[in-house]
Amino acid sequence: MNLIRSTALLMSLAVPAIAQTAAPKPPADPLHAWVGMTSPADLENWVNYHIAEEKKAVAEILAVKGTRTIENTLKPFDRAQFHLNIAGNQDYLMFGLHDNKEVRDKAQALLQNISAEGTALQLNQDVYHALVAVDKTKADASTKYYLDRTLLEYRLAGVDKDADTREKVRKLSDQITEQSLHFSRTVQDDVRKVVVKDPADLDGLPADYIEKHKPAADGTITLTTDQPDMLPVVTYAKSPRLRRDMYLAYNNRAFPGNKAVLLDLLKTRQEMATTLGYKTWADLATADMMIGSADKLRSFLKEVDEASRPAAAKEFALLEAFVKEKDPSALPLAASDSSYWSEQYRRAKYDFDSQSVRPYFPYPEVEKGVLATAGKLFHIEFRPSKAPIWNPTVTAYDIYDQGKLAGRIYLDMHPREGKDKWFSESGVIPGSGSQIPEAALLCNFPGPEDGDPGLLQYSDVVTFFHEFGHMMHEVLGGHGQWAGTAGVSTERDFVEAPSQMLEEFFEDSGILQSFAKHYKTGEVLPSTTIDKMVRAGRFARGSWVQGQLRYSELSLSVHDRAPDQVDLDAINKKTFVDHMPYVFLDDSHMYASFTHLTGYSSNYYTYVLDKVIAVDLFSAFDPKNLLGGPAAMKYRKTVLEPGGNKSANDLIKDFLGRPQSMDALKHWIVLGLPAQ
Ligand SMILES: [Zn+2]
Repeated sequence: MNLIRSTALLMSLAVPAIAQTAAPKPPADPLHAWVGMTSPADLENWVNYHIAEEKKAVAEILAVKGTRTIENTLKPFDRAQFHLNIAGNQDYLMFGLHDNKEVRDKAQALLQNISAEGTALQLNQDVYHALVAVDKTKADASTKYYLDRTLLEYRLAGVDKDADTREKVRKLSDQITEQSLHFSRTVQDDVRKVVVKDPADLDGLPADYIEKHKPAADGTITLTTDQPDMLPVVTYAKSPRLRRDMYLAYNNRAFPGNKAVLLDLLKTRQEMATTLGYKTWADLATADMMIGSADKLRSFLKEVDEASRPAAAKEFALLEAFVKEKDPSALPLAASDSSYWSEQYRRAKYDFDSQSVRPYFPYPEVEKGVLATAGKLFHIEFRPSKAPIWNPTVTAYDIYDQGKLAGRIYLDMHPREGKDKWFSESGVIPGSGSQIPEAALLCNFPGPEDGDPGLLQYSDVVTFFHEFGHMMHEVLGGHGQWAGTAGVSTERDFVEAPSQMLEEFFEDSGILQSFAKHYKTGEVLPSTTIDKMVRAGRFARGSWVQGQLRYSELSLSVHDRAPDQVDLDAINKKTFVDHMPYVFLDDSHMYASFTHLTGYSSNYYTYVLDKVIAVDLFSAFDPKNLLGGPAAMKYRKTVLEPGGNKSANDLIKDFLGRPQSMDALKHWIVLGLPAQ
């Protein structure tokens, strides 16, 4: 996720206007916040430097006399975008991963300043009129698209409203940022503990997990709700009580505190929407997306529901019959039993134990494998970089395209105290002209430490490649003429498609065998195991889509009506019951830690829309020659390289030669059903 990614997003964020004091000193490294940064004051100076540069660019636009041209107006405007983007992205990185809490706190406060600055630019009528007046007659297609889209974002932000309304919009925008950051920060800081009184409750968990969680002097074992602790418990722990305790602890993070914060945020968003002439926030937030409107979104979700519901019902019937045979007392299955029993089912029916492949996925080898695969696929080369990093555990690579430096990536892959708990990609520098793009991954995979090789699950490996896909989009799409349309700055509801498409590659045994080797014996992951793993992994695709629909409906339903009609607990339960066949646990409140509600707001559907697109895009690759066929380069040229210079619907048509359809998704779901 990326906070300051596009102008559209800027308007959903922001806070109090900053009193500009002395002019900021030129920072040690204007392009990299962390270089030479030893205190919160250094970060503040770095951010203020970029804000000052952005203001200079705006002043340059306004000083123009006479004819407005691309050169004298759009160029400085794009420079202003560059400074806001780099300040926002890197300040956000420091907020999510700096070791010093004071720096993280400062970064949080500064994010609000940066957003406020973005809002001010978005509401600046003089800049808007200047852009409207630009002579486009000689502009190329991508420049025209950039201008048109920028003007649309300006209108969506309310630039053409009267002064009072614009002031109101500015205040609401500030408030939205403040409330969003408050919400995310509460989740980030609220790590819950589950105390296991009887060590036998850890039965079923992997040996290295049990080894890492030794009982304290009083015999109890303390687990946390961090991913590396939580996920194995709900997947492998035999004890339904422990699974339930963990599920509830995890799904109650930031509850009850964030309930009120979320309701306030929804109120502010609704007020913003009505101020700008929209009925609801969902109408406003979908207006500049591929999906186009909240109504079209509702029909799309219905279409996906029809495509996946019958398969999901079949899958659950199979699972239920299995549980009935193994342990009838476990029925009916609760929400907290879903991962465990799905895992048991896969083990039994596909003779596949997801633990059995972990020794083939030690973190360092997976990293090499991901780089090698991406290198072959996109015809690029990764070389270790000596670029300065923000923590000794971070690795950096320079990317070369036909021998020419074409980008840089940073991998911050393992948990640290105070670091963001999630898995995400973030832009670092948008590329354009001679400026190479830079991007980073923030992940929480187990890492090698004290003789422990850091063994990943297969699903972790897929997640790694997914996040890597965002970075490739960022880097390969960062060579156009404008910073404002670089990389992932397409319509926001397209950004997950390229990443989700890459997930499909990791079903290929040739690709997996190129790096999956047993960390002790060096044995290559056998083809028969891969075959079982892939078939097991495909099981329950219909249910997965239904799960995505549940989150999509939740995110839409809290934003498509007046907030006084939003009953968070009722919507949480209804969307679960509508799509999940498990018993809902009444004392769970996942919305309080559903951080997608800040970044994606009503638009969680992005994931399911992009799955539909991803499997469609993947269908154009030759299954016998995924990396070597002509599709890879065509994909790079038509989908990734244009970045945000074209509408995503056109990118898809350019690659597929037709618009997207639901057929590939239906086929993808059916592949997961056992043969009759
Ligand atoms: Zn993603």
